[in-house]
Amino acid sequence: MSKYNRVLLKLSGEALSGGKGTGFDEKTVLMVANQIKDIVSKGNQVAIVIGGGNFWRGRSSRDMDRTKSDQIGMMATIMNSLYMAEILRTLGMKSVVQTPFKVGTVTEEFSKDKALEHLTNNEVVLFAGGTGHPYFSTDTAAALRAIETECDVILLAKNIDGVYDCDPNQNANAKKYDKLTYNNVVSKGLNVIDMTAAIMCMEQNVPMLVFSLAEEDSIKNAMEDNIKGTFITV
Ligand code: UDP
Repeated sequence: MSKYNRVLLKLSGEALSGGKGTGFDEKTVLMVANQIKDIVSKGNQVAIVIGGGNFWRGRSSRDMDRTKSDQIGMMATIMNSLYMAEILRTLGMKSVVQTPFKVGTVTEEFSKDKALEHLTNNEVVLFAGGTGHPYFSTDTAAALRAIETECDVILLAKNIDGVYDCDPNQNANAKKYDKLTYNNVVSKGLNVIDMTAAIMCMEQNVPMLVFSLAEEDSIKNAMEDNIKGTFITV
């Protein structure tokens, strides 16, 4: 039996690109999708938020309007969710992509009630398009949707196996935290999620497990709380 019933899995856009950094890597996405299939087959509910960094990151120059740049970023997150949904379909799974704004017939508009209906029908719900507003991130979208849909935990799959006091790639003495509070994250300015997301999770008491996506079966193990990551709580 899994420790959590309903989870929100947050993946960076880059995670979908394997080692390439841009675009999609089908093998990597299949590895994620197969784990999701396994988790859902056990009766657990999975919502997903994916970033957009594999297609668009920041502005191309300071001349560029931030709002326009962020809109492009939000569009990138939709492409990522559509791709993940398609890979899930090839594995025989049902999923729905919801966006906070209309994308014609391509996505469904976000609704808590509909999202919960899909989740209880063993469908994966992908929350794409971020919050729908510029100056936010997909971390904040993940926090918001996890709160709205009353998820038990946010599973934050990273390219690193937890939260460190400094960058382990730069400092051999970097120390990994097993546990942290959101207050620690904010007061130490730890670079794991953005501050808006941290404060929302703190205020609404949503725990977060940070772990490495690269470890075999890491998402499945995170569901059982059987992984050496960093657990962040209030
Ligand atoms: N974005 C936004 N509002 C949101 C969520 C995302 O404007 O609510 C834009 C923002 O430009 C961001 C981009 O979408 O940089 C992609 O999201 P993010 O950087 O979180 O992706 P990741 O780095 O996790 O791949």
